[in-house]
Amino acid sequence: MIHSVDRPNIAIVVQKVESKFEKQTQLLKLAGSLKGPGIIYFSSKRLAERYAYEIAEHHGLRTAFYHGDMSGEDRVTIQQQFIQNQLHLICATSAFGMGVDKGDVRFIIHFHMPGDLEAYLQEIGRAGRDGAPSIAILLYADGDEAIQLQLQDRDLPEEELVYLSSALTEQLPITERRFLEFYRELGLTPERIKEKIQFRKRWKRENLFTLLNFIKGITCRRRFVHNYFEEVAKDDIVSKCCDICGVNLSDFEGENEAIEVQQGWQEYLDYLLR
Ligand SMILES: [Zn+2]
Repeated sequence: MIHSVDRPNIAIVVQKVESKFEKQTQLLKLAGSLKGPGIIYFSSKRLAERYAYEIAEHHGLRTAFYHGDMSGEDRVTIQQQFIQNQLHLICATSAFGMGVDKGDVRFIIHFHMPGDLEAYLQEIGRAGRDGAPSIAILLYADGDEAIQLQLQDRDLPEEELVYLSSALTEQLPITERRFLEFYRELGLTPERIKEKIQFRKRWKRENLFTLLNFIKGITCRRRFVHNYFEEVAKDDIVSKCCDICGVNLSDFEGENEAIEVQQGWQEYLDYLLR
């Protein structure tokens, strides 16, 4: 069983926006007003790059992007710069965060919803490890789940592919190939593998809809999480709990400290944000 790891110092906020345009405007506003360091999560590599650039331009913040298509060397550099307080914020895909040990991350923004509640909690749990007040804001526009549904389907092979020969299977994208090869090695028939695909799809979809219920919910968000994980809520009163209980965003706003430019770093950033 996965524990939700309730972190009372992280305020949980969902902001509903009416359109994509409003979401962009809201993101730029938050990035400029919240006190960093912060991480902004996107489900698209392209958007992570684009907003890293736009936020740097708009607010003069030291910003970088991070995703799985970058070289290992670039990724380590960005990660280190972030840990050593040489960046105000990171625009990243879910590839960012594992093994990033930084205590003073003050905010997490989700530009896109993750695939399930566990992933969401894991990502917001990267804020406030030092115990100081921090905030997680998820921006949601009606229909956002469609992006996740697409991503989920992309990771699983089409049902008809269970009949593919081994030679042709090798040409499939890695996640689909691994899925088929795993069950073939276990000796499952194509029909049984088909059932596995259907099961996985249903399972992923149910998890996505749990997160959607959380987002659209009208009860305390912390209570929702406790109920989901069948945990008993601690009696401590959480003063900055969630948007349903009432959170003052201004408590998390503030000027970001200037970051001294290191030799060669600006050139490197220019190169990344080219
Ligand atoms: Zn609450």
